[in-house]
Amino acid sequence: MRLLIYIVGNGIAGLSAAIALRRAGYDVTVITKGSRGGSSFISKGGIAAATSIDDSPQLHAEDTLKVGDGLCDMEAVRYFTSEAPVIIGELTKMGFKFDSDLRLEGGHSRRRVHHKADETGRVLTEFLLRRAVELGINIAEDELVALQVKDGIVRGFTTRNHGTMGNVDYLVLATGGYAYLWQYTSNPPTNTGDGIAIAFRVGAVASDMEFVQFHPTITTLDGETMLLTETLRGEGARVVNEFGERFAFKYHERGELAPRDVLSRTIYMELMNGHRVYMDLSSIEDFERKFPGVSDFLRRHRLSSKDRVPIYPGAHFTIGGLRVNVRGETNIRGLYAIGEVADTGLHGANRLASNSLLEALVMGFNLPRYLGEPWDGPRLDDGSLVTVKLRDHGPIMGIDEVRRVNWEYVGILRSGDGLRKAVELYERVNTTINSRESNAVLVSYLTAYVALLRTESRGTHYRVDYPDKDINWRRRIYLGVIS
Ligand SMILES: Cc1cc2nc3c(=O)[nH]c(=O)nc-3n(C[C@H](O)[C@H](O)[C@H](O)COP(=O)(O)OP(=O)(O)OC[C@H]3O[C@@H](n4cnc5c(N)ncnc54)[C@H](O)[C@@H]3O)c2cc1C
Repeated sequence: MRLLIYIVGNGIAGLSAAIALRRAGYDVTVITKGSRGGSSFISKGGIAAATSIDDSPQLHAEDTLKVGDGLCDMEAVRYFTSEAPVIIGELTKMGFKFDSDLRLEGGHSRRRVHHKADETGRVLTEFLLRRAVELGINIAEDELVALQVKDGIVRGFTTRNHGTMGNVDYLVLATGGYAYLWQYTSNPPTNTGDGIAIAFRVGAVASDMEFVQFHPTITTLDGETMLLTETLRGEGARVVNEFGERFAFKYHERGELAPRDVLSRTIYMELMNGHRVYMDLSSIEDFERKFPGVSDFLRRHRLSSKDRVPIYPGAHFTIGGLRVNVRGETNIRGLYAIGEVADTGLHGANRLASNSLLEALVMGFNLPRYLGEPWDGPRLDDGSLVTVKLRDHGPIMGIDEVRRVNWEYVGILRSGDGLRKAVELYERVNTTINSRESNAVLVSYLTAYVALLRTESRGTHYRVDYPDKDINWRRRIYLGVIS
């Protein structure tokens, strides 16, 4: 019997699932609202995998757990760190050529970041796209707007251009995260959390929504935004204010090499104190060869590595998403979520650098292994389920307004007062309409709601009114809808 399988999203998660399913003999159609993919295309540093002789999946797992700050799912950590070398081998077998050196990134105890110069995401996405075309996979430009679910099983879906499609056997959400919903961000406008909102409305459980990773070093020159990758700092780049002072040492002994969340807060506070903040690249040797992508970008904007580049922190990666097991199964039968739209628990409360492309690739490439097996779904026994009611009337709120509210009240430094304000604003808005705006509000509402509940600081979630970690909060918050 021919199965009807649809994948939504053509980032690295969606493309690797499509290729793997096609190679396993299934017919698949990919639907995507952005032809160039989402974050995948602009991702930089690379993919973490323990492949060298002085490294092991065990060490990779230990680093992941340390950064995850007490909330990682052990099964997920073990699974992804041990599948990582297999996936690198698989890509190499397919003909993808990584650079020969392994890079070291913050939080990793070994050099294990596999990369293609500083443009891993673009080169890998183009490679996978070429493979998908060679395999005859149909990639249609369209936008998912709704899902149909009956008796806990996905039955169909609706897209903006083609209406409703029924009798679907499997639907794979690979729609990426929602970090575009903050005024300052490294993410492209495709990443507004559509997949999470659409599935949540029909009963999918979401989790870890309060954990939003902010990246400390983003720049915008003449309207073009670029993430200045962590490896620049690893290679000697300095973070300075307008007086050339390396102010990060005032907040953390490792200065600009402090963990991402610490450096984001440091830069944010320096900016709030009226200073300007720059990255000074002048001490990196052999800059053009090591960082061709950044060199090109600077040249396009009439700068070089000898100039100081203005930087700011912004939303970068959303840890929360649709709760799934490592296979990508949600609590709705037939509905998978893979990549950044999903929350397997791998990242816990904070993500180890270069673990997300890894997660997307493993979930995508391994999907055919599990298709047709009894549906397991995620375990929800390591936390508490909170249910929320959706508002089916009231005004709508535009995306720019959502981004402003999130930046101001659900941002890098959070407080009970600010979060309450965001929740109140979002509670007035209609969150049941099948639109990008309504999705953005729903996802932001869930984020602010649980960020308010979590009265502690842990991982990426920082509360000025609760600056310490609280052992009683060593559990995750699951969210479900009241129907
Ligand atoms: C600047 C930057 C650098 C990064 N660098 C790294 C790195 O070095 N290493 C690492 O591990 N991670 C990195 N990350 C994170 C990583 O890129 C992402 O987590 C990963 O690419 C997510 O892949 P994905 O396939 O799940 O989603 P995405 O690549 O975001 O793709 C989502 C897709 O879904 C589509 N879509 C969304 N909504 C709909 C809808 N309603 N209908 C149809 N289609 C829809 C979008 O158009 C897009 O094609 C970086 C992120 C950014 C922004």
